[in-house]
Amino acid sequence: MTVPALELRNVSKDYLIKAGGGLIPSYRRHAAVAGVSLTIARNSIVGLVGESGSGKTTTGMMALRLVKPTSGRILVNGVDISQLDHKGLKPVRRQMQVVFQDSYSALDPMMTLAQIVAEPLDIHGVGSPREQTDEALSWLERVGLDRSYGGRYPHELSGGQRQRVAIARALILKPTVLIADEPTSALDVSVKAQIINLLQDLQEEMDLSILFISHDLSVVRSLTDRVVVMYRGQVVEEAETEAIFSDARHPYTRALLDAIPAANPRDRRVRRFLSVEEIEAATPRLARSELPEAAEPSQTPQLVSIGPGHRVAAIVTP
Ligand code: ADP
Ligand code: MG
Repeated sequence: MTVPALELRNVSKDYLIKAGGGLIPSYRRHAAVAGVSLTIARNSIVGLVGESGSGKTTTGMMALRLVKPTSGRILVNGVDISQLDHKGLKPVRRQMQVVFQDSYSALDPMMTLAQIVAEPLDIHGVGSPREQTDEALSWLERVGLDRSYGGRYPHELSGGQRQRVAIARALILKPTVLIADEPTSALDVSVKAQIINLLQDLQEEMDLSILFISHDLSVVRSLTDRVVVMYRGQVVEEAETEAIFSDARHPYTRALLDAIPAANPRDRRVRRFLSVEEIEAATPRLARSELPEAAEPSQTPQLVSIGPGHRVAAIVTP
């Protein structure tokens, strides 16, 4: 078995939230992410889906070690990076990059596009200034912008062009892992499709492994190999993409799928919001003897294997 590009093992993040006002403020603990495990095989794309606030961004930021996990392990190409300090993380940063939804805020308005794209080479001391600029210009071409864009500034670009620049900057160091956090959510439909095609091409050319965070399930379906579904800080289902779309077992996954807008408005289904109670009531109850892999009976949901590569949060009965 080859080593996965990225592995999160039982990763959690607690935040202290100010609960009481007054002279002596009180705090309560909020589990933004609670015991998430996920694996991205080399050269594959995993979708991370779930509604706003389910913990997707926090999970991605922990994978990058831009947020320190409260507990759990993070392995990049088999190396545990959970405990590394700033200095130890520097070589890891070359291996992992990120593209955000709002790349505009991440692009320095005072820098030319050539400087923006070349900067990671400079930070990591790769090549001479001349070589760095040449490499940046060829990356602008590679993401579908003319080399002449090298002298322009971020404010001169459309939203889609800015995402192209952000992708060039993220990939210039040839990372093995890319975290893409809602990279197309702010774009029009046609531009969105172009950016998805670009990511798909680059993934194949570079043998990239991508964690694609999105609430846009139609994009997830066309792009990803596997899907991990998060609900309230936990994974509730995980499977190959086609199995998620054809054979979802968890009520929350089904509710998300029901909310996909239909291509034909006449087929549009009524959006169903499930309450916490409804989801608890509809959580699968599986008899221990029916499961393909051993699991202990429990009153609370646990992730159990129900088929090849397919896991669902279920209550296991004796
Ligand atoms: P998503 O990306 O799925 O929308 P997030 O990871 O951004 O979810 O947030 C998960 C939960 O953690 C939310 O309840 C959010 O309010 C909370 N959260 C995220 N970042 C912080 C923070 N820095 N301080 C306190 N709470 C946070
Ligand atoms: Mg988010």
